[in-house]
Amino acid sequence: MIQHQVVIAGGGPTGMMLSAELKLSGIDVAIIERRLTPDIDGSRAGGLHARSLEVLDQRGVVERFLDAGYTAQVHGFGTTHFDITDFPTRHPYGLALWQKYIERLLADWIGELGVPVYRGREVTGFTQDDVGVDLHLADEEAVRAAWLCGCDGGRSVIRRTAGIAFEGWEPTISHLIAEVEVGTDAVEWGVRHDARGMHGLSRVAYEIRDGKIIYGDSGPVRIMLTEPEVEHQREPSLDDLREALVAVYGTDFGIHSPTWISRFTDAARQAMAYRKGRVLLAGDSAHIHYPAGGKGLNMGMQDAVNLGWKLALVAKGQAPESLLDTYEAERHPVAAEVLQDTMGHVAVMRTDPRSKALAAIVSELLGTEESRKRFGARMAELDIRYDLGDGHPLLGRRMPDLDLVTADGPTRVYALLQQARPVLLNFGAPGRVGAAGWADRVPLLEAVYDGPWELPVLGAVAAPAAVLVRPDGHVAWVGEGTSAGLSEALGRWFGPASG
Ligand SMILES: Cc1cc2nc3c(=O)[nH]c(=O)nc-3n(C[C@H](O)[C@H](O)[C@H](O)COP(=O)(O)OP(=O)(O)OC[C@H]3O[C@@H](n4cnc5c(N)ncnc54)[C@H](O)[C@@H]3O)c2cc1C
Repeated sequence: MIQHQVVIAGGGPTGMMLSAELKLSGIDVAIIERRLTPDIDGSRAGGLHARSLEVLDQRGVVERFLDAGYTAQVHGFGTTHFDITDFPTRHPYGLALWQKYIERLLADWIGELGVPVYRGREVTGFTQDDVGVDLHLADEEAVRAAWLCGCDGGRSVIRRTAGIAFEGWEPTISHLIAEVEVGTDAVEWGVRHDARGMHGLSRVAYEIRDGKIIYGDSGPVRIMLTEPEVEHQREPSLDDLREALVAVYGTDFGIHSPTWISRFTDAARQAMAYRKGRVLLAGDSAHIHYPAGGKGLNMGMQDAVNLGWKLALVAKGQAPESLLDTYEAERHPVAAEVLQDTMGHVAVMRTDPRSKALAAIVSELLGTEESRKRFGARMAELDIRYDLGDGHPLLGRRMPDLDLVTADGPTRVYALLQQARPVLLNFGAPGRVGAAGWADRVPLLEAVYDGPWELPVLGAVAAPAAVLVRPDGHVAWVGEGTSAGLSEALGRWFGPASG
């Protein structure tokens, strides 16, 4: 029998990230994954946004991702690009890196952390009782866990078995996507627009030089075609791809040897609840949408970073189950906004005259400096503010990665978060704030920082005297000279005081 404190169904980017978060927090966690190998056939996602890079930086692994890809100004909406080079972050860019490499790096990392991954196992359902969950596997092996996380993608068996409604909007557009070989040098590379919409062919392998994409001249070709009618039921075949190429380009370019043929649509759906008893959802199992803006994988990883430490505290009995309600309260609105943004994105991509007129207006409005700051931060996910009540502008927002001086020498805030633990930073007179009852969970650090405090969109904010930073890097309490409200914040986020 397979038995763990937490079992994650699905070892995609969300499941792997969540497993790392739980493992770092000392939880006995395992992944059950249908695929036999860590390698995926094709890459849906093409990279990471600035906030995801910060999140990986908070865990000390961002360099391996940066080394594998290319940093670039990738954030945008419709035809408008937002250059975020001057944003107050150590990562004022996105990272161009295919999903297959992102997943490979995550798989290597969780391997180093010692997360067991049961491969070639398909979850078919589960039953839960007051103290745990029994997973049902296709091979009938028994699996028991105190908690189950459904990170099993948009068609989630976990979400369906939990009976959680997946509500939203039906598709209005569908695309074929594939990675194949071509049988000719006479390929029309690049993007073509016609009455149907957008189509494109490019080599999978590329590099970025001086901000320009330089494609390789051999190897697999990535094809994306807009379909004449919305199709979302049937799995596409090589013949479907050939037929669609001929309809758009008049030739199929001699395509052969596909490694991946798939289809995606602009269906937008969100789970009405992120938790049912001892079962939680994260990533695509909780939300699906059109990939414009490149948000899905990034959002899944950030769901995982919001959920991991909370579930760890609850699983260890250090915090009440109500802490898990904050996961849905914080992450559901983030995905709801992304669903709206992507629907807007689809509307401005349409090629009929009225949509084009709307797109021109949107493009003009987004061209201002104020829009660059606001929507650049939104697309880079640097503007997320969890609603933790009124107060200092830092409250609920991501903590900036400041260079600090401490009694042990110089450090930076994100280096303090690498073990997925919170930190209470006192910038005021030593001993001014204390967390005695939480010393086992929340380290206190006297630190000096004398630079500016700057946040994306908002710009300069008043320097706080102390901050309580959660393991996900969001600020849970801001001290402005006294400890008022600190005990309440510590109790709310890290359970009752001990001793
Ligand atoms: C064309 C396209 C382009 C995209 N581009 C971007 C982009 O640029 N940026 C971005 O952020 N996002 C992008 N996305 C979205 C991104 O690919 C997904 O949001 C992301 O893969 C979600 O990760 P996940 O781990 O939640 O789910 P998945 O990646 O779907 O992983 C789910 C895992 O669960 C496993 N599984 C499923 N069912 C079971 C079961 N019953 N038992 C055991 N295992 C199971 C699967 O094998 C899989 O490994 C794009 C999507 C598309 C279609």
